[in-house]
Amino acid sequence: METRKTWFTWKRQYRRLMSFIADFVKESIRHRNQGRCLHFVDNTRCDQIINAHSIQKQGQLRLIAEDGHVLRFNADFSTLTKSSGRPAPKKIGINRVSTFLGFCETHDGLRFERIDRGPLTPNHEEVALYGYRSLCRSYFAKENAVTLMDSMSRNRHITADKADLLRIMKSGHELGFEQLKRHKADYDQSLASDNFFDFSYVAFLSNSPMHLQLSGVLYPEFDFLAERLQDLSNPQENRGLIAFFTAPTKTGWAFCFAWHQSSSEICVPFIRSLATIMYEKYELADALIKFVFSNCENHAFRISWWNKLSSEVKQEISDRILHMALPTATIAPNYLTSGIRGMAEWTFDVVHSRSDI
Ligand SMILES: [Zn+2]
Repeated sequence: METRKTWFTWKRQYRRLMSFIADFVKESIRHRNQGRCLHFVDNTRCDQIINAHSIQKQGQLRLIAEDGHVLRFNADFSTLTKSSGRPAPKKIGINRVSTFLGFCETHDGLRFERIDRGPLTPNHEEVALYGYRSLCRSYFAKENAVTLMDSMSRNRHITADKADLLRIMKSGHELGFEQLKRHKADYDQSLASDNFFDFSYVAFLSNSPMHLQLSGVLYPEFDFLAERLQDLSNPQENRGLIAFFTAPTKTGWAFCFAWHQSSSEICVPFIRSLATIMYEKYELADALIKFVFSNCENHAFRISWWNKLSSEVKQEISDRILHMALPTATIAPNYLTSGIRGMAEWTFDVVHSRSDI
C-alpha cells in the first residue's frame, strides 16, 4: 500500500514538474519573440512594430558556420531541467540562432549601419556601437528575465519553495536591470551627441581562423589577478560595466573590450590585470576563452573547432557554462585563470588600445 502511495505521489510531482517546464519554455519563447524597439526619444520608447526579418544580423555567424550550422551552449533553466542538469553544445542553423528583436528597422539601420556595412577598423565610433549593441541585447534579455520570473513564480504547477526561489531570482534580475538602465542612459547620451571619445577600448587582433562569435556585457567582480574589483552583493553600489565582443576585421578578426568612461574606475584595473598576466606569460587566448565561457551565454562557435578539442577542455568549458547558469553559484576569485592551460590555439598579433591603462 505504502509503495503504491509513493508511486502516485511521485507520478503527481513528475506531472507537475513537466507541466511547469512546458509552461516555462512557452513563456520563455513568448518573451524572446516579443520584439520592441529600445530606441528612446525624450524618455519615450519608440513604438514601431518590429520587423523581425529585417534585423537579423547573420553576417558574422556565416564566418564560422559549416553547412549553415554553428554550435552553441544552451544552459537556461528549462534546458538544464530537461537534460539532467548538464549543458551540452547544440547544433543550430544560423537562420534559427536567436535573433535580437530590440530595434525597429528604422532605428536599427540608423544606429548600426556604420558597423554593419564593413569590417571593424577598429576606432572609437565602431567600438562604441558594438558595445552599445551588446548592452542593448543584455538589456532586452534582462527585461525579459524579470517578467518571466515574475509570471512563472505565480505558475499554478509550482510548489511554494520553487516559487520563492523564482522570486529571489526575479529580485536579482531586477537589480541587474536597474543598473543596466543607468548604463544604457550613459551610452544613449554619449551616442546621441556623437561623443565617441567617451568610450575606451582594447582590441586584440588576430589573423588566426575565426571560430567564435560572441557579444555581451559584464559587471566584473574579480580581475585576472583574482583581486576583487567591486562588491556585487551591495545593491546600493553603482556597478561598473564592461562590454565585450568579437568582430571581423579586414585581415582576420578581433576580440574587443569596450567601456563608457563612467565605468573606467572598474574597467581600467580589469584590463590592467589582463596586461599583467600577459606580461607574466599567461596565454591571452586561454584567459579570453575562460572569460567567455564563464560570462557569456550569447555565443556561437565552429563545429569542427569544438570536435577537435580534448575531452578535458570540453569538460572545463561545459563546467563553466553550468556554473554560469546556476543562480546560487558563487565564483572563485581566480576563476579567470584557473584550470587547463593551452585551451585555445588562437594567437593575437596586435593589441590596439585606446584607453588610459
Ligand atoms: Zn524604433
